[in-house]
Amino acid sequence: MTKVLIIGSGISGLTCAIECASRGISTILVSPFPSERAQSVLAAGGINAVLRTDNGDSIEQHIKDTLNGGCNIAGVKAVTGLCSEAPDIVRWLEGLGTVFSRDKESKIMQRPFGGQTYPRTCFAGTSTGKQIVTALVMETRRYEGKGLIERRFWTDFYGALIKDKTCYGALLYNEATRTLESVTADAVVIATGGQNRMFSKTTGSTQCDGYAAGKLFEQGVELKNLEFIQYHPTAIETDRKNMLISEAARGEGGRLYYEDGGKRVYFMEDKFGEKGNLMPRDVVSKTMYETGRDIYLDVSFLGKAQILDRIPEVYDLCMKYRGLDITRESIPVKPSVHFFMGGIAVGLNHMTNISNLYAVGECASIYHGANRLGGNSLLAAVYSGRTAAKDIASRKVEQEPSDWSEFASREQGRLEAIREAEGAVFSVHIKNMLRENITGSLGIVRSEKEIDKSIEVLDHLIDVETSGMVRYDSSELEYFNYSLGGILKLGKAMLVCARSRCESRGAHLRSDYPEREESFKKATIISYDEGEFNTRLVGEDAYEG
Ligand SMILES: Cc1cc2nc3c(=O)[nH]c(=O)nc-3n(C[C@H](O)[C@H](O)[C@H](O)COP(=O)(O)OP(=O)(O)OC[C@H]3O[C@@H](n4cnc5c(N)ncnc54)[C@H](O)[C@@H]3O)c2cc1C
Repeated sequence: MTKVLIIGSGISGLTCAIECASRGISTILVSPFPSERAQSVLAAGGINAVLRTDNGDSIEQHIKDTLNGGCNIAGVKAVTGLCSEAPDIVRWLEGLGTVFSRDKESKIMQRPFGGQTYPRTCFAGTSTGKQIVTALVMETRRYEGKGLIERRFWTDFYGALIKDKTCYGALLYNEATRTLESVTADAVVIATGGQNRMFSKTTGSTQCDGYAAGKLFEQGVELKNLEFIQYHPTAIETDRKNMLISEAARGEGGRLYYEDGGKRVYFMEDKFGEKGNLMPRDVVSKTMYETGRDIYLDVSFLGKAQILDRIPEVYDLCMKYRGLDITRESIPVKPSVHFFMGGIAVGLNHMTNISNLYAVGECASIYHGANRLGGNSLLAAVYSGRTAAKDIASRKVEQEPSDWSEFASREQGRLEAIREAEGAVFSVHIKNMLRENITGSLGIVRSEKEIDKSIEVLDHLIDVETSGMVRYDSSELEYFNYSLGGILKLGKAMLVCARSRCESRGAHLRSDYPEREESFKKATIISYDEGEFNTRLVGEDAYEG
């Protein structure tokens, strides 16, 4: 029987575990926290699928919208698979117990989201992610009862067991015992979410710290399209993070404006017409940035009843963090880092360039090109989990047993030395510098000059880390805290990718290269080899690991 190790228990990891277990595959699912605390539960707006065609919508149109929204660099085959399976995915989730909102005729309601030709975002109030996670956890427990899934919490990914470009399992860090354990498996699936914590403030979870992607990059795993970082147009800033005002607020009719001499200017509608407020996120954020004004979102005209019925979480959030009553007042909003189109490079079957190592969900880069459409990432999380599981089952991989205990005890020794080291520079200081630099140079608009300055700082931080000058700060609240090498290299890789794309496309806007260039209608692949960061461009659907 095949044994699979899945790292990360958000929507993509849970789906992959269920799909593996349903095929009789023995599955271990690990994460530092239970699924109920994964970023997936924050998803408010909904999940996309074409459920009706009587309004003119079609799967072909969903494919077209997704490719156009991503500025035509996502693969046609990948996106076709994603959109074609969407209706079945929504029905499957409903069958597992996700309670989607329904209309008077008992049909699943669908609201318009940015970049869609027809309304196709299915939602469960404004807690779609929570509802989906709850349903998937229940199903996971069923397989746990049958002995097919083992869930391990308070357990972190430390690194993969890789030899000759093949993955044999992973080293896991047990937070309670503070020890490393080597766990072998026929296939390993990385489902660790985006790289939010590489920035000072985002709308996402601090669990999405980029550690796994960075560590794997150090270990020879290729990454892709790291320059494409989605700024969601509507967030409100608080002390520690940016709180998302879901696109559902604009889907329900919310209007963006700024004030000029006491008069409201509905700049998105003026520039793009009736659907202006629901242009793709890259377009809205860019246009907001270009106004140079304070921007407001008005939903008050919808009336209290509709606001409380359709976007209650937006109401609660504004009341809680700003004391703002959105049934009467406008919301001051600004763009915030939100989603990562880039991540671990995978082929159509979700395998990386390392045999038997897969990546799914937001940590993988394949469907969203240069800009993701709202509602497509929950879909991609489920679809990618399913796709990887199907591939693992069809390949019937069964590896020869291998012994990694010596490697594990060597790494344990290294970890203890790191923990005890009394270097002069606190780890928290290095992380803050990393975040400040990434935030400062990978804003909505970037330039070579700013990127180069940050690369210089990161090169220095990498030197500090490798020369053993770091003192690890155990008071930090982050769960796995004893390695900075990976995230520093991931940070540099993000900058190198952004520097190498000498054009403006989707969420990557360069002040020094403002035009879109045909020669860059490709994905950026970056690899790390003995200190060298190497980039290359690959064509649509061409990546096979
Ligand atoms: C506020 C907000 C609202 C959103 N709304 C929507 C929406 O309405 N529609 C939509 O389509 N998308 C939305 N998104 C995006 C969507 O929620 C995510 O892309 C998706 O849920 C990602 O799922 P995932 O399984 O890939 O990762 P996550 O849900 O982020 O799960 C990652 C898992 O990996 C674990 N992990 C991380 N690092 C390690 C490690 N080192 N070792 C072990 N485990 C680790 C975490 O603990 C967690 O269990 C939203 C995002 C945010 C932030």
